[in-house]
Amino acid sequence: MPARLLARLERELARGVGLVAILDYDGTLTPIVPSPRAAALAPSVRATLGALAVSARTRLAILSGRALADVRARVGVDGVIYGGCHGLEIEGGGLSFHHPRVRAGRLVAARRRLTAGAASIPGAHVEFKGLAVSLHYRRVALGRRDEVRSLAARVARGSPDLRIIPGLKVFDFVPRVGWNKGRAVRWIARRVAKSLGPARPLILYAGDDVTDEAAFAALRGRGVTVRVGGGPSVADYHVPGVREIHAVLRRMALAVG
Ligand SMILES: [Mg+2]
Repeated sequence: MPARLLARLERELARGVGLVAILDYDGTLTPIVPSPRAAALAPSVRATLGALAVSARTRLAILSGRALADVRARVGVDGVIYGGCHGLEIEGGGLSFHHPRVRAGRLVAARRRLTAGAASIPGAHVEFKGLAVSLHYRRVALGRRDEVRSLAARVARGSPDLRIIPGLKVFDFVPRVGWNKGRAVRWIARRVAKSLGPARPLILYAGDDVTDEAAFAALRGRGVTVRVGGGPSVADYHVPGVREIHAVLRRMALAVG
């Protein structure tokens, strides 16, 4: 158990403040699995999220690089704020946001070029996420991954208004609009804080990836941030894996229940 982290969270909640929990999905709530399609939420974790979601003292958000509908379907808990495409789209819990400068049309050319290029690389797969387009290469043989990288680089050069976010065996192409998980968590926290009463709520953010570092940085001095897994990070705390995050969330659910 991450004792120092738990002590800190419980000390803050003992003051009677509300809790804003913002969580990444893959690698944070589910272990990283060979195929992202298989990243299913364990029923016990879903039950804990459900307990947090119904607590009047808590607002729960799940923020993912996945498409909004995908992450919502995987979590399947009512009352949760869901953020897809790295926060470009946010829905649920009374919030609704669609980044005003993002139009699906900006992605059309990149999507077409990625699809055409991927057709000649066995195992490469293009996913259209509405506000982002992704080139998946988990199933591409190691010897052909250079072709994936050069396809991604070529499309990036031809799409100066898109930004590439490298993930786990995936390149996400997102519109370059100065938005990331950091901006998204600040947006969510600002909007939900007032609904939890006059006192400043405790903000908890957990994530396992490079894209979560923007959220850790954005919450510096404003929240408690947790990096799941190893790697350099600006987060306040580290935990080894999904099991520990679940233990923390279970204790939070008890504390606010
Ligand atoms: Mg993740």
